Amino acid sequence: MTSSAEPAEVVVTRGDRIVCSGRRADLASYPAAQVHDLGGKFLCPGFIDAHHHLSIAALHPSWADVSGVKTLEELARVLGAYAARHPAVPWIRAANWTDIESAFRPTRRDLDAMGLDRPVLVAHYSLHQGVVNSSGLDALGISPATPDPLGGEIGRDEDGAPNGLLIERAWSEAHRRSLSPYDDPAHWADHIEALALSLPADGITAVHDTACPPEAEAAYRSLAASGRLALSVLVCPHPGRLLHAPEADRLDGAPTGEGDELLRVGPIKLFADGGVAPALDVHLGGERIVFGMLFEGLGEQVKAAVSKGFRVAVHALGNAGLDAALDAFTGAARASDVDHRFRVEHVCLASPAQLERLAELGGIAVVQPGFLHHLGRQVEDVSFDDATWLPFADVKRSGAVMAASSDCPCTFYAPLRTSAHGASRRTGSGKVLDLVQTVSYEDWLRAYTAGAAYAGGQETERGSLAPGLRADLVVLDGELDADGPPTIAQTWIGGHLVYEAQ
Ligand SMILES: [Zn+2]
Repeated sequence: MTSSAEPAEVVVTRGDRIVCSGRRADLASYPAAQVHDLGGKFLCPGFIDAHHHLSIAALHPSWADVSGVKTLEELARVLGAYAARHPAVPWIRAANWTDIESAFRPTRRDLDAMGLDRPVLVAHYSLHQGVVNSSGLDALGISPATPDPLGGEIGRDEDGAPNGLLIERAWSEAHRRSLSPYDDPAHWADHIEALALSLPADGITAVHDTACPPEAEAAYRSLAASGRLALSVLVCPHPGRLLHAPEADRLDGAPTGEGDELLRVGPIKLFADGGVAPALDVHLGGERIVFGMLFEGLGEQVKAAVSKGFRVAVHALGNAGLDAALDAFTGAARASDVDHRFRVEHVCLASPAQLERLAELGGIAVVQPGFLHHLGRQVEDVSFDDATWLPFADVKRSGAVMAASSDCPCTFYAPLRTSAHGASRRTGSGKVLDLVQTVSYEDWLRAYTAGAAYAGGQETERGSLAPGLRADLVVLDGELDADGPPTIAQTWIGGHLVYEAQ
């Protein structure tokens, strides 16, 4: 992660910049330098989490946490306690519902039976679906006669009555409504400030907030202006109605690149397919399987954003979603010949030919090695004929730039831990998924630094140990070994030591 092929022996910083990255002998040019001997520990650029929902993750402590809940009795107890503690909140919101290990799927009737006095939303950990009670359905105006929205599905009983489950774009409005008590920018800023302060302990010195509504953008601006933003943020604008097309007035606002090193506007975030319903078009044992939801209008959305001076980052989880993203990129590339730096977020199921197409377009795969833990576990026994799950080695072979990230709060975010999964291919059940797709630990660190900086259009300010770049640094204790990963010894931001292990 230096500007040359040689690892550096010495890095010299002055103020918030790296001024030298070279050999031990170079120190002679800096006789007044204060020397920190790292005692053989490994120094690398600060980690950039290229897909982290910092603003939404910051609100999670405000909600009832149901991550460990696997029974209705437990859910009733947690929601009841939350309702009693928060009598004035109009929606009772639970976060981190998971159905992976226990197939735990509450319904509208289950929630109604808890006798709570308000709308309730139990939000799935993926932030792509949720379950509401009858009062919630009423507040959203959803009745048996309501048709499924485009790109979404209203779960129904056999008689057609909504069962409370709202999938993909059918859940977006419930998300927005239940968020509204917390989205006042001043209040939101306090939560973001608190979470941002904790990230350097995991070596994170910058994040891309990959679905940032206007109120969160305002919160970031106020934090940056008042010196309260602990790390660099690249905001990827997105409407409050999660998963939907960008609002016209945001496209008239600050475009990609505007801002400074602390807070900059990144690409517009768009969606090609679902998260719990990714669009798949694959073959299994010779038989074609078509599954999931493609969101319409992506080509037009990409063109509109590009014409207003934005780059784009497109969520594409399934291989059919990836095809839609590649088609949209091809259309935009034809219309204008600029450095588009197209980003595909997730790339969870792809063929080598698709990845080569991404590379030819100069695109970037923004991937999540930590997904081996939960998604990897779900697909252990599903091996398609024509596309591969979490095809990280194929991404590397294709020549497309690989940027690493967590997708926090949908999963754990510590880069040294997610990288261990990416290098070992170990899933949450302890099995190894498709060992030929292994990418080395060192390559993951490169994807968390140089790759992520490139994905953010910030390679001239961060992501490698090169003179002129920001002195955002981490010191690692231990070997780059997936089975016994290193730990963070120190984190430096802008030349200041901000974290040191005790
Ligand atoms: Zn995400």
